[in-house]
Amino acid sequence: MKDLRALPAPGPLPDEGGALFLWVRRGLPLALAGIALVGLTLYGAGRGWWMLLSVAALAAAWPSFLRGEAYLRNRTAIHRQDCLWTNVLRPLARWLHQEEAWILSFCGYNNRRVREAFGGRRARRALILLPHCIQLARCKADLFTDLQSCYDCGLCPVGDYMNAVLLNRWEGRISNRSHKAYREAREYRPDLIVAVSCSDRLLKGLTKIPEIPSYVIPLSLPHGMCVDADFSLPHLFAAMETLVEPRRPPGEVHPLRREGIA
Ligand code: SF4
Repeated sequence: MKDLRALPAPGPLPDEGGALFLWVRRGLPLALAGIALVGLTLYGAGRGWWMLLSVAALAAAWPSFLRGEAYLRNRTAIHRQDCLWTNVLRPLARWLHQEEAWILSFCGYNNRRVREAFGGRRARRALILLPHCIQLARCKADLFTDLQSCYDCGLCPVGDYMNAVLLNRWEGRISNRSHKAYREAREYRPDLIVAVSCSDRLLKGLTKIPEIPSYVIPLSLPHGMCVDADFSLPHLFAAMETLVEPRRPPGEVHPLRREGIA
């Protein structure tokens, strides 16, 4: 195993946002329920339909109020509904030129609920999923075979990530295909996934694996899609420290880098 170097202590998790999604997800059904109740009061004809509409609208809003253990118990059904809302309204958001903001707002809303759920009872079996495009495009290190083939040259986030994974005994995968990442996640059966990807893939992943709670971190793409992508390592470290039970072995870690270049 490589000699590991200590990394800076992670800070607190950042504010997640998600207000836009919450307003729509909860606000629309509540508004509809209000309209149905007004209709029920004002119009005698069709009372049964007004009543049915108000009950259905309240039932649609109800999952957005569940938190913590109640959320985790009903997680799959709740999350499927949230993903449905996101995907159904996505074309409208695209038409309004707010697609990215809409998806990221859903991701923030999802993260807030996951944080609340794992705030008191941290995950014991977590899996980190990263995309291959965080590796420098011209780097020859074969990360798919062995993460430790990274030279830790500092030109991309993989070196710091590798040190943190080995130091903390985290379980992580770097994948070049979404379906591979989903398959590995299902095989490993974690109780929490911490995933990094572009907004489109994050939504796809959240939709495809509703049964496993996932905390998601968006990539930044300064060089375009799938090339030399970057993300906030402090954010990832903070998520692992806050939401996952520590597995770090006791003992000192001596800073030392392996000689080599990408
Ligand atoms: S050797 Fe350098 S460029 Fe290649 S994966 Fe490691 S840190 Fe990134």
